[in-house]
Amino acid sequence: MPNNHYYNVIIVGGGISGTALLYTLAKYTNIKTVALFEKYNDIATLNSNAKGNSQTLHCGDIETNYTLEKAIKTNKTATMVENYGKLYGYENKYMFKIPKMALGVGDKEVQFIKDRYKEFKDAFPYMEYWDKAKLAEIEPALLKGRDANEDIAAMGTDKRWSAVDFGEIAKSFVRNAKKENSDIDVYLSKEVEKIKKIGNKFEVIVEGKPYYSDYVVVNAGAHSLLLAHQMGHGQNFSCLPVGGSFYYSKIDSLKSKVYTIQNPKLPFAAIHGDPDIIHDNTVRFGPTAIVLPKLERYHHAHFLDFIETLAPSKEVFEVFYDLMYDDDIREYAIKNFLYEVPGIRTKLFAKEVQKIVPFITEDDIEFADGIGGLRPQVIDKVSKKLFLGEAKIETGEGIVFNMTPSPGATSCLGNAYKDAELICDFLGAKFKKKKFNKELVNEK
Ligand SMILES: Cc1cc2nc3c(=O)[nH]c(=O)nc-3n(C[C@H](O)[C@H](O)[C@H](O)COP(=O)(O)OP(=O)(O)OC[C@H]3O[C@@H](n4cnc5c(N)ncnc54)[C@H](O)[C@@H]3O)c2cc1C
Repeated sequence: MPNNHYYNVIIVGGGISGTALLYTLAKYTNIKTVALFEKYNDIATLNSNAKGNSQTLHCGDIETNYTLEKAIKTNKTATMVENYGKLYGYENKYMFKIPKMALGVGDKEVQFIKDRYKEFKDAFPYMEYWDKAKLAEIEPALLKGRDANEDIAAMGTDKRWSAVDFGEIAKSFVRNAKKENSDIDVYLSKEVEKIKKIGNKFEVIVEGKPYYSDYVVVNAGAHSLLLAHQMGHGQNFSCLPVGGSFYYSKIDSLKSKVYTIQNPKLPFAAIHGDPDIIHDNTVRFGPTAIVLPKLERYHHAHFLDFIETLAPSKEVFEVFYDLMYDDDIREYAIKNFLYEVPGIRTKLFAKEVQKIVPFITEDDIEFADGIGGLRPQVIDKVSKKLFLGEAKIETGEGIVFNMTPSPGATSCLGNAYKDAELICDFLGAKFKKKKFNKELVNEK
């Protein structure tokens, strides 16, 4: 261990974001000493764990609320994860080629898919248009029990590594980082309690003990904003923790990842069906979206931390009011609340699933207990808007805070690249961008 608990960089949080940065610093920079602190006893036990998310590598090709521009950007970061997996031989170990599609149901949505396919096919040349007859061959569960007059169509592919165990990838980042740089320390079961700026260094208090660094990156999920607020940063942001639950199908249903058409006003994916890569022959449907007064889904809740991170104010209430004033969003919020209420939830959710698999009944699905994490959605109090994705507080003082709702696992290496750039600029260190681009960015 380096002397006096001093490091060039300290990373707070051992999910996929923190570990991707650890790996990037170890392999692609000349930064010597790095420490990562994770409060639980293993890497990626929360949102980055395969139980916490939908296990989808978001390439932008089936996410119908992304514009073409956003899809191209997301695809770039997804490609980094695929390339990383190929570099270490993780194909069919931590990443899988499950066919995937965006499904349109009814004439209006079918037309939407046709138009979108035309718009996307140059940027995503591997995507195919699948009409009803083709879908009957590829994914018969979509047709069985469906009204013969109801048209369906999809744009999809079986050529991408569409499903990823982000938790295992996070653990592999740590293993591979340690092979690249032996001056890395990863501390488990160590919660960062406080961060203070002292002169041009940071004092990071972990269980009462001080550690020091020149630069700090906080990748602590919803806790990132809590730590930022405690240091007086990010006061124009509020965090709205949105839980997402899943339902398991008890019967044989889908063989592919089937996404439905999303409402562009909502930052969350519409309900989709995904063959689960950690439970053989099980399909998950979800996630739901429910605002929860806590910063972690399944652990003891510190209500005051939630309040401090939400930082209620006139502007925050105005954002809530505007959201609830919109009929679609109000209906969505109410429905999603009911999907969590025992006794009625399975019956109501089955109706949602029937859009994808028409023959499923409430007896064929069950609420997946303990599955699904929490998305730290950020509200910008100045523009009075809910961010549709990730948010970063770049202080310019040697500390960065990242809040990473979906597709944060997919963009882990893209975000690590941005942070490595900031860190190297600040510390005057070398970032081997050519090597990063050659190994991770260019399509293989
Ligand atoms: C229901 C759902 C479905 C999703 N589906 C997808 C998907 O299909 N594809 C996709 O790309 N993304 C998906 N996401 C988003 C994705 O899961 C997250 O963006 C990603 O896991 C965030 O990773 P992270 O490392 O930033 O945060 P986390 O995984 O939350 O890790 C943060 C870590 O910080 C630690 N920590 C917190 N506070 C402290 C502290 N004070 N000291 C030390 N450690 C601390 C925590 O213990 C935790 O391990 C989904 C999210 C949800 C909730």
